[in-house]
Amino acid sequence: MHATLPLLQATNFPALRRHRLSTLQVNLGYRCNQTCVHCHVNAGPNRSEMMDADNIALISQVIAARGIETLDLTGGAPELHPAFRQVVRSARAQGVKVIDRCNLTIVFEPGQADLAPFLAEQRVEVVASLPCYSLKNVDRQRGKGSFDKSIAALQQFNALGYGQPDSGLVLNLVYNPQGPSLPPGQTALEADYKRELFAHFGIVFNELYALANMPIQRFGSTLISRGEFNRYMALLQASFRQDNLAGVMCRSLVSVDWQGHLYDCDFNQQLGLALPSPRMSARPHLRDLLRVDPADDGIRVADHCYGCTAGQGSSCGGALHD
Ligand code: SF4
Ligand code: SF4
Repeated sequence: MHATLPLLQATNFPALRRHRLSTLQVNLGYRCNQTCVHCHVNAGPNRSEMMDADNIALISQVIAARGIETLDLTGGAPELHPAFRQVVRSARAQGVKVIDRCNLTIVFEPGQADLAPFLAEQRVEVVASLPCYSLKNVDRQRGKGSFDKSIAALQQFNALGYGQPDSGLVLNLVYNPQGPSLPPGQTALEADYKRELFAHFGIVFNELYALANMPIQRFGSTLISRGEFNRYMALLQASFRQDNLAGVMCRSLVSVDWQGHLYDCDFNQQLGLALPSPRMSARPHLRDLLRVDPADDGIRVADHCYGCTAGQGSSCGGALHD
């Protein structure tokens, strides 16, 4: 795989500073029931990297110390971590909103038959990637059979009340373009998804997040191989919108890897760009958040940040504008 970081570090992206920290996004480990071709952490059934008990215990301590409002759980498949349900219960008991970044097919894995009812009982928000509403495109990206399983899982979530009006059980979907282009307008695409998924499968959901692809990791490497990297970067830069800067997720979020190390966002985690806090350890760690409030600290920016500010903007909560 081609390294993208050397192509991104010389940047003229505007300097950013943090606001109040409200979201802790935690990667519980790389184990996953799937092996998607585009996976940015190469997750799979044989990966053994999982957050240990000491770091798991730190999550609730940091939530209390920093007044965290949202715990965003990711992986791999975060549900495969043996402590997943304990982490969810504990955060919900602290009054925190919990998001599960769910690959949908996980609900059909051994031992996960009661996963969807558990998430509903705990009122966990489910965010699921569904790159398209057509079988061909989804199976190409996520593996043969994954579209049918994803549809069956969405129907299971709907039957529990997820995505249904007034249930309060939130089911959001995520879309990324297949190639080096910006995503279409989120509102129009969401309307297409809603119409097609309901017409063909009776599926309802709350919101669609249409996100731009970041020129890093496997996607960035593919662009380099095809000689398209510079053109895509030029598109992101030409589509820069100043007003997106206020809403980029790194201003209110810290991303935590499976070993407890801290980053400004998941993309910086993938690039190995550690949180640049002058008041934390040399390699900032979850335990630093027990004593340090990162508000007002600088953020480590590079050229990939243009992926967050291009056009309608991208964040882990979807577009920043329409
Ligand atoms: S479901 Fe997600 S974490 Fe698992 S292999 Fe696919 S992209 Fe990676
Ligand atoms: S890539 Fe990360 S650090 Fe850069 S603007 Fe986006 S969220 Fe912030």
